[in-house]
Amino acid sequence: MKVAVLAGDGIGPEIMVQAQRVLSQVRPDIELTSAPVGGAGYEAAGDPLPAATLALARESDAILFGAVGHPRYDTLERALRPEQGLLRLRKELGLFANLRPATLFDELAGASTLRPEVVAGMDILIVRELTGDIYFGQPRGQRVNEQGEREGFNTMRYSESEIRRIARVGFEAARKRSRRLCSVDKANVLETTELWRQVVTELGAQYPDVALSHMYVDNAAMQLLRNPRQFDVIVTGNLFGDILSDEASMLTGSIGMLPSASLDANGKGMYEPIHGSAPDIAGQGVANPLAAMLSAAMMLRYSLGDPAGADRIESAVRRVLAQGLRTADIHEAGATRIGTQAMGDAVVAALS
Ligand code: NAD
Repeated sequence: MKVAVLAGDGIGPEIMVQAQRVLSQVRPDIELTSAPVGGAGYEAAGDPLPAATLALARESDAILFGAVGHPRYDTLERALRPEQGLLRLRKELGLFANLRPATLFDELAGASTLRPEVVAGMDILIVRELTGDIYFGQPRGQRVNEQGEREGFNTMRYSESEIRRIARVGFEAARKRSRRLCSVDKANVLETTELWRQVVTELGAQYPDVALSHMYVDNAAMQLLRNPRQFDVIVTGNLFGDILSDEASMLTGSIGMLPSASLDANGKGMYEPIHGSAPDIAGQGVANPLAAMLSAAMMLRYSLGDPAGADRIESAVRRVLAQGLRTADIHEAGATRIGTQAMGDAVVAALS
């Protein structure tokens, strides 16, 4: 099996070194090949997504991605900026399904903005459609209306096939977990999401082993704060998913802990921490590499057919947290503060 490692900029290379160590410990047979992307791609080839990097991503079974971006590139023309490399990669590879787990490690319950007894044990997977909806629908724009007033307009649009393919990802993910799927829409007001509910319900007939429920998005936003543990897998559109996944991830208290996946129609995917390149701490050896390691675990589970390998990495992370080892971003009184490399050492030791 071949994995492309695109470390990117800022803390990307630092955390990716540790993620590769952990991955190689669990699966020494996987061939890891690195290539530049983002600012590093621009430096190497004048392009945030060099042709050779794209070719490597295409021919690999999965992609492990660090982070891109640095203020020094902010004055470049838009097409050459690091973030464009990531957006083009998603588009070129047809990565339409975004999987964002919001898992609270019990040892970090104190870091959440909610009371520990509300969030303890929280383990949610949000499946967000990534290439459709009001973000891409036409027509869109700004114009002067008949009253001579400026107005803005966007179009919420989903085809049946787009809904079906993301719903299928939701059902399949639920099958790998505790077989509960909550579809979030606004079917009482928006025709687009009325169709969403119909199509998801129809597809549900093919998954009699998965308990399907539906919830309006305003209620879902409230329930995530009231009782997040009621959810297992949530499937929703691009706009609602954007907002709900950020809300859910904040409940876990730390950006340095959360992985994500973006999948294509065949289950091939790109796996990355949800955080950015953190230029403020880059090069200091203090970045938290756990989100990158947990991204590698997701890759084993969702693209490389190795759920046992994924479990091993996740358990090792849990053990290290239980030992009281913390990077600066998740540090609290009584814990031992360690750096990026030492966190890598600890997880590798916990694996062996
Ligand atoms: P950021 O996620 O990089 O950083 C936000 C804050 O969280 C910073 O204080 C940072 O030090 C901290 N942080 C982030 N990851 C951490 C980790 N692993 N360990 C410890 N602390 C961590 O977001 P930002 O500051 O808004 O953006 C910085 C750059 O990253 C920008 O150029 C932005 O465009 C880019 N960005 C890239 C991605 C991506 O590659 N997927 C995502 C978001 C932002």
